[in-house]
Amino acid sequence: MSENHRKVIVVGSGPAGYTAGLYTARADLRPLVFEGSQYGGALMNTTEVENFPGFPAGIMGPELMSQLRSQAEKFGAELVSDDVISMDLQGDVKVVRTLSGEFTADAVILAMGSAYKKLGLEREEELSGHGVSWCATCDGFFFRGHDIVVVGGGDTAMEEATFLTRFAETVTIVHRRGMLRSSRIMAERAESNPKIKFAWHSEVAEIHGDGKVTGLTLRDTRTGETSEIPATGLFIAIGHDPRSELVKGQVELDEDGYIVTDAHSTRTNLPGVFAAGDVVDHVYRQAITAAGTGCQAALDAEKFLAALD
Ligand code: FAD
Repeated sequence: MSENHRKVIVVGSGPAGYTAGLYTARADLRPLVFEGSQYGGALMNTTEVENFPGFPAGIMGPELMSQLRSQAEKFGAELVSDDVISMDLQGDVKVVRTLSGEFTADAVILAMGSAYKKLGLEREEELSGHGVSWCATCDGFFFRGHDIVVVGGGDTAMEEATFLTRFAETVTIVHRRGMLRSSRIMAERAESNPKIKFAWHSEVAEIHGDGKVTGLTLRDTRTGETSEIPATGLFIAIGHDPRSELVKGQVELDEDGYIVTDAHSTRTNLPGVFAAGDVVDHVYRQAITAAGTGCQAALDAEKFLAALD
């Protein structure tokens, strides 16, 4: 077999991909890990991570990812900073292509993550981790006593808003329409919470703040009129896009585009193809759960490969 053939290829460089790389490397499988053009995944866009076990003092997102990366590399994972541009996963020999070549493997672990949908506002990226967040579980704790805005009208937005009332002084839900999309029960829970207010027919037009969020401009979606609202937190809960486009038509996806795996495993519908992290998970979406399923995918792949020998 050529050097371009491996027992296992991992696609993705977030907590799931590096953990899969670490475990398969320690199992002597010499994994090739395609990291994409920007390594490290979603946590590269945040500041302090306080809920990854093992770091009682917290750790900066990019530092955590750099440590996970070094650990995988130390045990022999070969890291390649290329984007995978296509894959043929249906045969016994899996084919993975990047701009620099074609690689084959007996098993592939898919760990491409999911992109948080953005509002598309000018200051959104710059203030990510400085008041702008996509994850109440991750960042709610930092907003004790603050005034927060949550954008969205679905179940996730209601859940995030309700959770944030544990910390926040007030939570204003900004929704483009005059009616929520969420289930009745979630809506009622939010509507009856005394800390939650609603800005109906509204969208965020501008984020203000120098280094951290201090307020927002809201625009009325019917009249175009604008108003200012003081807020130190902006939680965006308008959905996620799992990065599964490359495997669509080969690997089974659910109606929202998440990869479907067998219960209690990381096996997809294709033998030898495993999936882990946020490209599968639309429920927990945490670094530790992504790392956990990365470990599971590596163990599942190892078992699959052992059965081939
Ligand atoms: P990701 O981290 O998204 O990584 C996927 C990687 O795969 C990316 O690097 C991507 O470039 C790469 N990739 C995708 N497609 C390809 C391809 N075709 N070829 C090669 N590479 C590819 N969770 C917590 O537990 N605590 C927190 O405090 C926390 N804070 C967060 C703050 C922010 C701003 C965000 C956005 C998320 C936060 N999360 C937090 C959630 C956490 O980051 C995710 O749950 C976790 O990173 C998911 O890991 P993953 O490995 O599945 O995917």
